[in-house]
Amino acid sequence: MHNELEPREYHGAIVDLTDRCNLSCRHCFYYRNKRDSRELPDQELLRGLETLRDRHKIRSMEWCGGEPLVRREVFEAGAALFPHNMLYTNGTLGIPRISNVTTCVSLDGPPEIHDYIRGEGCFERIAANLANAENQTVLILCTLNRANAPHLEEFLRSVEQLERPGLSLPVFLLIFTPLRRYREVEGYDHTFEQRDQLAFTWDERDRLLEQIRRMRREFPDRILNNDLLLELMHSSNASDCIKHCNRPQVTLSLDLRLNRKLPCVLGPDVDCGRCGCPFPYEREARRRGQPGLTEGIVPEPL
Ligand code: SF4
Ligand code: SF4
Repeated sequence: MHNELEPREYHGAIVDLTDRCNLSCRHCFYYRNKRDSRELPDQELLRGLETLRDRHKIRSMEWCGGEPLVRREVFEAGAALFPHNMLYTNGTLGIPRISNVTTCVSLDGPPEIHDYIRGEGCFERIAANLANAENQTVLILCTLNRANAPHLEEFLRSVEQLERPGLSLPVFLLIFTPLRRYREVEGYDHTFEQRDQLAFTWDERDRLLEQIRRMRREFPDRILNNDLLLELMHSSNASDCIKHCNRPQVTLSLDLRLNRKLPCVLGPDVDCGRCGCPFPYEREARRRGQPGLTEGIVPEPL
């Protein structure tokens, strides 16, 4: 378990609850081969999280994996340990409704594109689960890559159709972050496709940012990424923001055995230089006085 000689406070933490998943998405940074799971036993994991919470004064926990809901009972017991929680799920195993949990569901495009990336029938399962979700805001996370970016408008229309009274579905757009190094993984077919076909060039990425800006005008209340954030993600500003990314300092990233994961949840092979996560850009936006993107949605913005 992670241990620091002089334990410091962290704004929040993120943990891989499991290395198992019921899907095998084309863009997954966390795919697993067929070897046995390395999960800690339930009680050991929960006790470890409690110790880390007290040691580092952690108030908010992000749950990811793998698919956290393959360990639903452990997730629910774990969420009770922290005032605020964020769950990242693929949405195929139900949408929990727990008062101190904000649920984020990954949707990667309109039905055919989502299923191309995540597997046959996934979109329909998520739609059915969302149809049962009552009185809540579910954050829709969409990781844009070369396969789904051309379908952005269609995607936003399909999210519109999933929304209904009592269920709000704001969309947060991320850009696929490639790895610096790809290793072939037994049982996972998409490694080299991921390396060669999903990442954007900087020119493509800049054009995409422009397209998102246009979509924001067409779908004014849907997309959370604001104009300043989009501007900061542009090739002319990105490297400066990335240089000052403080995600490793403010968030304790933990692997499924509660060891530290650096620099962040994406693991040691991530290509920070092409980061498409919001953190470095949102940090700069906040420094310039803009409120965090999820303020008003998440009780304690991450
Ligand atoms: S649902 Fe998430 S963890 Fe599972 S394969 Fe897809 S991206 Fe990876
Ligand atoms: S991948 Fe992005 S968020 Fe993670 S440490 Fe690198 S720059 Fe920061």
